[in-house]
Amino acid sequence: MLDIASLTELLAQPQKIVITTHHKPDGDAMGSSLGLYNYLIQQGHHVKVITPTDYPQYLSWMPGNEEVIIYTEHTKEAAGLIAEARMIFCLDFNALGRINEMGVLVGESSAVKILIDHHLEPEGFDDYRYWDINACATAQLIYTFIAGQLNHKELINKDVATCLYAGIMTDSASFSLPNTTPAVHHIVADLMEAGAVNWRINDLVYNNSSENRIRFLGNCLSNRLEVLYDYNTAIIYANKHDLEKYEVVTGDTEGIVNYALSISGIRLAAFIVERSDKVKLSLRSRGEFPANDICKRYFSGGGHRNAAGGISTDSLEQVINQFKLILPEYKKLLIQ
Ligand code: 5GP
Ligand code: MN
Repeated sequence: MLDIASLTELLAQPQKIVITTHHKPDGDAMGSSLGLYNYLIQQGHHVKVITPTDYPQYLSWMPGNEEVIIYTEHTKEAAGLIAEARMIFCLDFNALGRINEMGVLVGESSAVKILIDHHLEPEGFDDYRYWDINACATAQLIYTFIAGQLNHKELINKDVATCLYAGIMTDSASFSLPNTTPAVHHIVADLMEAGAVNWRINDLVYNNSSENRIRFLGNCLSNRLEVLYDYNTAIIYANKHDLEKYEVVTGDTEGIVNYALSISGIRLAAFIVERSDKVKLSLRSRGEFPANDICKRYFSGGGHRNAAGGISTDSLEQVINQFKLILPEYKKLLIQ
């Protein structure tokens, strides 16, 4: 493992740097990646953000977005950049499997790998680790990495601040989760002072839906919601036909699970969606209930206690049934 002094020394010279984040990047993945990007380019580094897959339209407004390379769309160029990189920043993920095929390239690379993340149990492919599971967002860690570890608070300009604000806002569910501490609010205040415009960022992320997405949401709530009061659990599902009918695109399903969790008394909510080659589960929970435990044990996934995800190769119907059959095992935690 490298120490901060060696890392600072490396960063004192212009370097070829790749920043990457988990597949299907969310607001924190893009916000932390582009926040770090906008910091590093001020110091003359040659920096590329490479995402393993595409990401939602409502995240494509951030400063630096036009420079992002999507691996699945520009595979050769991305592979070349990874091979040439002297440093690779791995943000908002803990295991190389989370960056799909890019994981092999990053794993084989001789670059110095810097992990900045807030997920449980990092796999251990990194040379330098800035990791805190209590952080509400990786973007929060990017702030303290730049301002604290690297002592460059003055380089948190409007572009950096805007991206980091977006990351913190989305991963903390608009500052509503228990890990939104006073320290987070102090950081957010600093970001606003540095030029992040809170209401504009909120509008760009949350008030930017297509008509189809709102109608798809309506269908989910009216026709695809099942509430299991015996287990304080609610499920919303969407099948392939729904996705086609409402022309669902990347990002349209984001946040739908929260409607199920917003029903009074619900402790556990699931959004289960039939993708082309697999079924994807998104779980959210309240309080102490470990949503990540279910994902890890039954659905080849993981995540945080209150927000986790997983996949299955079974049919949608089978996955919904399997999920229901698991609930008795967790009944005590669900009804206490
Ligand atoms: P989402 O429901 O938004 O897809 O995922 C919620 C959280 O669960 C993510 O922030 C991520 O930490 C985690 N997560 C989602 N899918 C997976 C997965 O397949 N594997 C692992 N390890 N974590 C996941
Ligand atoms: Mn995150």
